[in-house]
Amino acid sequence: MNIPPPTSTQFGITLPPPTPTSTSSLKETYPHLASQFHPTKNNLKRSWTVSHDSTLPLHWKCTLGIDHEFVSTIHDRLENKLACPCCEGRKFSVTNSVSVLFPEFSGMWDKAKNDDVLVQPDTILPSSKKQVFLVCPLASSTSDNSEDSESNLYDDHVWSFRVCDATSMSPELPACPCCSNRKVAKSNSLLHLRPDVSELWANELNGTMKPGDVLGLSEASVWLRVGDRDFEVVVREVVEGEGLPEPPPLPVVEVEEEQQQEEEQQQEEEQQQEEEQQQQQQEEEQKQQEGIEQHVEEKSRGKMRAMFSSVLSLVRKRRK
Ligand SMILES: [Zn+2]
Ligand SMILES: [Zn+2]
Repeated sequence: MNIPPPTSTQFGITLPPPTPTSTSSLKETYPHLASQFHPTKNNLKRSWTVSHDSTLPLHWKCTLGIDHEFVSTIHDRLENKLACPCCEGRKFSVTNSVSVLFPEFSGMWDKAKNDDVLVQPDTILPSSKKQVFLVCPLASSTSDNSEDSESNLYDDHVWSFRVCDATSMSPELPACPCCSNRKVAKSNSLLHLRPDVSELWANELNGTMKPGDVLGLSEASVWLRVGDRDFEVVVREVVEGEGLPEPPPLPVVEVEEEQQQEEEQQQEEEQQQEEEQQQQQQEEEQKQQEGIEQHVEEKSRGKMRAMFSSVLSLVRKRRK
């Protein structure tokens, strides 16, 4: 098979005008390709022992990276169909990984959550469509593994993102959805922003949802309890408002009923007081009466005693 000689610039090298013969070697005819002829993987063949029109797949080694190795025919290489796949970003190489080409982005990599070694920044191509876990720069800048609450406040700012989407937006970095209040985290929850309001949480009316599960700037309604009153509030309004929310005023009918109840209760109390007073008065009168009777009794007893002693002295005198 005769390959038409290239006449233009390919692979960044200006090609010399070739004058191949049917017996010319690869090295003689296409020296620019011969320089990439793999020195050890083509059995014992050498660029000067392979014919320029060979149709066999051959091993090549690009000089732009130590692992830029690939297989292609001479024809496909001349047609530029199979240029170095590592240089083109189709095959992983030490020169085209995410960590080499996008170091800022690979700094956001959540290495622990991306526990598969094949999805680490130094083993993945920037064009990969894989979803990987990213961690907010705030988390990595404050995390020191201590139990200090402030240092751990951002450690749940973690989300997943497609590698190719992140690298295509370079030099910008993917925005943290927690910092931009699109995803709830400890730092932007109702619990963190308004712990005082969170204490009013009506557990049984909010189901399984807790104050830590609600975005502080959410437009959702949740139930609070003050005293024996349950009422709904919009989360964002109470977070942005001042003081503690109060239950809405009762409807007029309820207010009237409440007043009537209060009046009735007051009347009952007054009646009870009156009864108590009457009872007290009766008791006092009874005591008084008992005192008079006792006095009269004592008085008559004294009289009797005096009479008895005078009779006794009269009897004694007569005997004498
Ligand atoms: Zn290459
Ligand atoms: Zn964040």
